[in-house]
Parts: sequence; structure tokens; C-alpha cells
Amino acid sequence: MFGFFRKKVNEPVVYRRPEHCISRKNIDPDALKVLYRLSSLGYTAYLVGGGVRDLLIGRQPKDFDVGTSAKPAEVKHAFRNCFLIGRRFRLAHVKFGGKVIETATFRQNSQTVGEIIEHAAEGPFEDNTFGTPQTDAYRRDFTVNGLFYDIKDFSVIDWVGGMKDIRKKIIRAIGDPEIRFQEDPVRMMRAVKFSSRLGFRIEKRTLVAMKKYHSCILNASVPRVCEEVFRLFPYGCSAEAFRLMHETGLLGDLLPELSRYIASSGNGRSPVFRYLKGLDAYEKMMTGKGFEVSNGLRAAVLMTALYKAEKKDGAGRKVMQMMLDSLKIPKSVYFTAVLLMESSRRLSAPPAKGKFRFIYNRDFLDALDYNRIIARSEKRSEDALNKWADLYEEKGQEE
Ligand code: ATP
Ligand code: MG
Repeated sequence: MFGFFRKKVNEPVVYRRPEHCISRKNIDPDALKVLYRLSSLGYTAYLVGGGVRDLLIGRQPKDFDVGTSAKPAEVKHAFRNCFLIGRRFRLAHVKFGGKVIETATFRQNSQTVGEIIEHAAEGPFEDNTFGTPQTDAYRRDFTVNGLFYDIKDFSVIDWVGGMKDIRKKIIRAIGDPEIRFQEDPVRMMRAVKFSSRLGFRIEKRTLVAMKKYHSCILNASVPRVCEEVFRLFPYGCSAEAFRLMHETGLLGDLLPELSRYIASSGNGRSPVFRYLKGLDAYEKMMTGKGFEVSNGLRAAVLMTALYKAEKKDGAGRKVMQMMLDSLKIPKSVYFTAVLLMESSRRLSAPPAKGKFRFIYNRDFLDALDYNRIIARSEKRSEDALNKWADLYEEKGQEE
């Protein structure tokens, strides 16, 4: 009976329906349609990724993605409302009105494999891009993101130990974190995002690897990095996210002046985090109200402590130039952020007679909100801001 107690490799842990909390009534009905249709045609069809994670935690998923054994052409054949997209048509979008259910054939790891195929002159389509449920689980970033919900018997299939980590609230890289972060450095920012957003701690080896390889982030595609930076704001956990960005060294790579300022102004107690907490309260207030918080406002709050430390004319442009240089933020975000920072002087006193054209500026409401966030963070009075708001109520709609 040697090896009796040894864990079998090549077999996932399967959690039957009574052993987990995912209920079909919490799954988008259109995602269910896709799952049932593929399954009835004899393909394997799973709910995958962040959707499964969020359902297990009891959160409303942002989107529902499907993983399947069906090849893209087969998925297209199964649905009238299906469009193949991406380079070489490797991803299927099944559309229901404005909603898209992303349906991906099980893949193998590695971008490396992907890249080689991408660059092969006339490689056959039937290549080694595609894989099995097992390889598809292993190519994912974190264990909590590697779980599958099987529509056939409503079980959760776990190749990577994700269920245990969800229960213990841990973000852990799948495989060797050093390799996975070098392979795709943006994963380090994703670790920060999930840890702050879900309130999970980053597992020791994963965190150590981040602290070792943080500067690889400078090799990643700038638009992807920029996008990930702005994904740290929704859900109202940006103070914790940027604390982790600073602690791991990622912030020092991307916005060195900001990181140095944090270090010189009390680290965890730096005013930078006071302002971000103010922003977080605002983000939480705005979610569910149908308002988008603008990236210009987010960028302005992030850089406000640095702006205030500058004290010179043109400080707004100077500190926002840092984000322009290293993250290539859109010009519109840059201009809005500069305007918001510079608006603080104008809005610090009540509107004077005949001097209120600012209320007709298209960023006026953002400026008002920005100044409220800063005033609350500094426990300052909002009287002048209330006067501006009253005036806007009265006249703002006129032009
Ligand atoms: P969110 O709620 O923010 O959408 P998510 O987990 O769904 O979170 P996505 O960026 O939508 O994140 O990605 C979907 C899934 O694809 C992830 O759950 C993960 O399994 C996988 N994935 C995404 N990006 C990577 C990456 N860089 N490396 C490996 N796997 C990834
Ligand atoms: Mg997602």
C-alpha cells in the first residue's frame, strides 16, 4: 500500500453541490444559456475565473466568463449571436443585447507558446494553443482565479487549491511566483488589486517574489500598466492598494517621486493615504448610483499631497507630467487632473459677484467633488464649496 496517502497528481479536488455555496440563481441567465447549450452538444463547459471566485465569496461578479472544450469555430457554430475576435479568432463573444459572454477554449500556458504561434508564418490553426481543463487552470494567475464551476453536475473543480485559499482569504500565485511574475509582470499589480479589493492577504512566497521582481513592471506594456493603475481605484480600496504598491516597490518603479514622498512623510501615515481614504469613501458612495468616478479625479487625488508639497506655480502640471511620462495617461485625464488641483484656490472662497464663470466649465462638478474630498480629508470647512454648489444649482444649467 505504498503511496496510499500520497496526493494524486493529475486529479482535481471536486467540491460537490452541497460542499459549496454557488447557486444557479446568482449566475447570469445568459451565461447559463451558453453553458447549457455547449454542454448539451457534448462539450465540457465551465464557468471560470473571477466570476466563480466572486460567487464563492458572496459578491456580485462583474462578468461571467465561460471555458469550454469546444474550439472557437465550434462555439460560433453553436450560437447565432457569436462573434470570433482577437488575433487569429481565438476568443468567442456570445452576445445578448449589449451583454457579452466571453467564451474561451481551454488553453495551455504560456504566452511564450502563444507568441511563438503568433509569429509563425503560416502555422496551422489546430495548434498547441489549446489545452485541457488542467492546463487552463495552471495558466491562470492566482489560485482564487483558477476555479471552475461545472454546469453538468454543479460541482466546483479545483486543480490549484483555490478553494482552500478562498476560505483562508489568501492571494497565492499558481506555480512558482518568481517565474509567473517574470513571465507577466502585470500579475504583480493584479495581486495588489485582488488583495486590496477582496481584503485577502498575499501569501508569503508570492509577496517575496513581488518584492524581488517589482522592477520587471518596467518591461510590461505601458497601456496595460496604466489600465491596471486605474483599476486600483473602484471598490474604494485605493489607500490599501497604493500602500501595497509602495511596500512592494512597484510604486517606486512607476511613480518614483510619489514613492519617495511617501517614504519621507511617514510611510503608512503619509498624507497621500489620508487623501486616498477620502477618495475611497467617495468611490463607495458613488457605486450603485450609476455615476462613474473620472480617472482625472482619481489621478488628481493620488497626486495631491505631492502637489501641495510643491508650493510653486505650475505645480499641477509638474506633478501630473510624472504620470504622463511613466504611465502615458490619456491627455484628457492629465488636463482634468491639473484643472482640479488648480481649482482649489478658486473654490476656497465663496463665489464673488460676477466672477463665477467657472460653474460653466465642463469639469466644474468634478472640481467641486475633488475639493470636497480634500476638504474632508483635512477636516476643513466646506462652507465655500456649498456656496459654489448653490450657485451651480441656480445658474449652472443655463448655458
Ligand atoms: P475582475 O473582477 O476584475 O474582472 P477577474 O478575475 O475576472 O477580475 P479578468 O482580468 O477579468 O479578472 O480576467 C479573467 C481571468 O483570466 C482571471 O480570473 C484569471 O483566471 C485569468 N487572467 C487574467 N489575467 C491574467 C494574467 N495576466 N495571467 C494569468 N491569468 C490571467
Ligand atoms: Mg473579469
